[in-house]
Amino acid sequence: MPDYDVDLFVVGAGSGGVRAARIASGYGARVMVAEEFRVGGTCVIRGCVPKKLLVYASRYADDFEDAAGYGWTLGEPAFDWGKLIANKDREIARLELAYTTNLERAKVAIVKSRAVLEDANTVRLLATGETVRAKNILIATGAAPHLGAEIAGLEHVISSNEAFHLKELPKRILIQGGGYIAVEFAGIFRGLGSEVTLVYRGDNILRGFDDDVRQHLRSEMERRGIKIITRQTVDAVEKVDRGCCVELSDRQSVMVDCVMFATGRRPNVTGLGLEAAGVKLAKNGGIAVDEFSRSSTPNIHAVGDVTNRINLTPVAIREGHAFADTVFGGNPTAVDHANVPTAVFSEPEVGVVGLTEAEACARLPKVDIYKTSFRPMKMSLAGRDTRAFFKLVVDGENDRVVGCHIVGPDAGEMIQLVGIAVKMKATKADFDATMAVHPTAAEELVTLREKALSHRREAAE
Ligand SMILES: Cc1cc2nc3c(=O)[nH]c(=O)nc-3n(C[C@H](O)[C@H](O)[C@H](O)COP(=O)(O)OP(=O)(O)OC[C@H]3O[C@@H](n4cnc5c(N)ncnc54)[C@H](O)[C@@H]3O)c2cc1C
Repeated sequence: MPDYDVDLFVVGAGSGGVRAARIASGYGARVMVAEEFRVGGTCVIRGCVPKKLLVYASRYADDFEDAAGYGWTLGEPAFDWGKLIANKDREIARLELAYTTNLERAKVAIVKSRAVLEDANTVRLLATGETVRAKNILIATGAAPHLGAEIAGLEHVISSNEAFHLKELPKRILIQGGGYIAVEFAGIFRGLGSEVTLVYRGDNILRGFDDDVRQHLRSEMERRGIKIITRQTVDAVEKVDRGCCVELSDRQSVMVDCVMFATGRRPNVTGLGLEAAGVKLAKNGGIAVDEFSRSSTPNIHAVGDVTNRINLTPVAIREGHAFADTVFGGNPTAVDHANVPTAVFSEPEVGVVGLTEAEACARLPKVDIYKTSFRPMKMSLAGRDTRAFFKLVVDGENDRVVGCHIVGPDAGEMIQLVGIAVKMKATKADFDATMAVHPTAAEELVTLREKALSHRREAAE
């Protein structure tokens, strides 16, 4: 009978790792967690939380402007980037401490070190050279920015990691990428007053989202003065006297003060000793796992971004919790990855759950579409010409709402609630039977009467 130092060794104290460690410890397991950077992981230290704080900061610019239409007279607003970053850092340090305290209270041992696997039961702590024998190992190492192919001047390019710590607010910034992190940072910098150019190699931003959402967000971002260049890539970045000269694939050059790439994230699997432990990778580059997050080595599990399933904090947390229930709680639990609601904190915000129109048409024989675009009431006195967009995707055979897509203020807050209805398999008739809350933007969800489109697939197909 081998002797183990711990029942569970968790590699990575991020969203998934922290939850798994706490719950497993609560079941009586002896747990140790290793963190090479800061406790809290990407979400707390350099992801969701600091990002949302910057989003809040960036939105005041519109509020100050809009206030005039509501009778307010304000002095000339002034913005201090240094103060924002210092305040944000203070809040992140507070959260890091709260995460650490919660782990300690749960009797989880924390080691500040990079950890690598030597075999299926042995972990080496690089900070001290010590080894720890573990009955079970959970890999929760997350993902890291990937800047893409090597190009001239790549050393001058920052990722989202560095964007949170810029010394000054760039007057002009070029962001390459079309995913949610790219469009969120474009909105942040634009709101704070930067001149923003977004360069994306595809046809349109937010690949994978509903086409109407993509088009609506793009035109709203352009209306706000963000220059969006699609079907181009950054070929080279040259440091010049007053900033960077960015050369695009069509040979046009753009002069900016800062270049940021948000070109995707890759699971943190390199140098982890996965091979020595017999842990296999999936085609998507993440650790291959079954529905219980078990890897190809039975006592090693993996959760969160390192598995490259759905890379969101609540998903990593749910996977970490389910892992602990399964392995230490005697309650095998598989995470349901269907109908995960999600938000993009762009300006305006996006909230989505379920199928896009195109996905629904590919899967279902009959699809009905309800949609509307309108100017939210708050914009009227503000004199702002921005529009919100709502869309419901309905299964034409059983009337179930299989997708909801919102672009506009508070879309993230709204979609959390619509997510419950969609998860409960609510029908369009259920939405219609719900009394509207007036006057709100959300009432559009229950007052969409006219079908905008009906897709019908022929039976022979
Ligand atoms: C800019 C940005 C904005 C985001 N915004 C949102 C959002 O609004 N909503 C949302 O749901 N998600 C958002 N995300 C995604 C979210 O942050 C991740 O999905 C989530 O953090 C994944 O959790 P995790 O536990 O898998 O990994 P992480 O939280 O990344 O934690 C992994 C931890 O492991 C540590 N580590 C790695 N290797 C080792 C090793 N060998 N030894 C010791 N420690 C190691 C890392 O330092 C890290 O702390 C955002 C991400 C980014 C980058």
